Amino acid sequence: MDFSGKVAVVTGGANGIGRAVSLGFARQGAKVVVVDRDAEAGAAVAAEIGRAAIFRAADVTRSADVQAYVQAALDSFGRIDCFHNNAGIEGKVAPTAEYDEAVFDAVMGVNVKGVFLGLRHVLPVMIRQRGGAVVNTASIAGMIGTAGMPAYVASKHAVMGLTKVAAGEVGPLGVRVNAICPGPIATRMVQDIARQVSPNNPEGLEARYAGSIPLRRYGTAEEVANLVLFLCSDLAGNITGAQYAIDGGRTAA
Ligand code: NAD
Repeated sequence: MDFSGKVAVVTGGANGIGRAVSLGFARQGAKVVVVDRDAEAGAAVAAEIGRAAIFRAADVTRSADVQAYVQAALDSFGRIDCFHNNAGIEGKVAPTAEYDEAVFDAVMGVNVKGVFLGLRHVLPVMIRQRGGAVVNTASIAGMIGTAGMPAYVASKHAVMGLTKVAAGEVGPLGVRVNAICPGPIATRMVQDIARQVSPNNPEGLEARYAGSIPLRRYGTAEEVANLVLFLCSDLAGNITGAQYAIDGGRTAA
């Protein structure tokens, strides 16, 4: 996969999956715009990449911030070929009957409105270019339910809907839009969920959950990055509107 001459924008690029994707794009020759609200970690990722990257601090729920990172990409590198619409939060773990309304709004704000705003402001650029590839980060929580995570599950199902609608709209214009559905991936996010569910023994919970996965382990951010790069590459030229589970077989068996 050669991304020489291509420009990639990655939201949530400071940590976890987005960090691995940012580094992966850079390794394959792309210019990278790292976008995150975590300014310290985001700047560190851009510094690790060097001159081929810039960092833009942004809250993906704010339209003005989204417009600013899109403009920064165009000002610095002139185009956007690949967009990993990835920033997300897990919220609290609690049953629907007890779920906090403000947390529900916060999760929907980042995971749904943030993804929508990314599409809203990046797609016009790709339409003008008559080309580009978007990968939205959904989750296996966009395919199946998980008790105790009503906001997260609803938000990730919504990402699947946004993906399908956008794919249908921009396919005729040469732009592809896909979704990835990671299972548990070893990042801060799954550690936080494990701590919420089992504060006294999060490692024990993770080990039990890993035991329920056919491949018997959590995935790595680098493995997810490989899938994102593939879907953004010309190798995936006939793939759009699709959802790719990367979950060690969790949703299959
Ligand atoms: P992470 O917490 O390590 O990274 C998320 C990044 O998003 C952080 O850098 C954070 O600062 C950023 N972010 C959060 N809210 C933001 C906002 N409003 N504006 C800008 N940046 C914001 O978690 P991760 O595991 O790398 O998660 C990345 C994506 O993958 C998320 O959408 C998550 O829902 C999804 N996902 C993760 C897993 C997993 O097991 N880790 C599984 C399925 C899906």
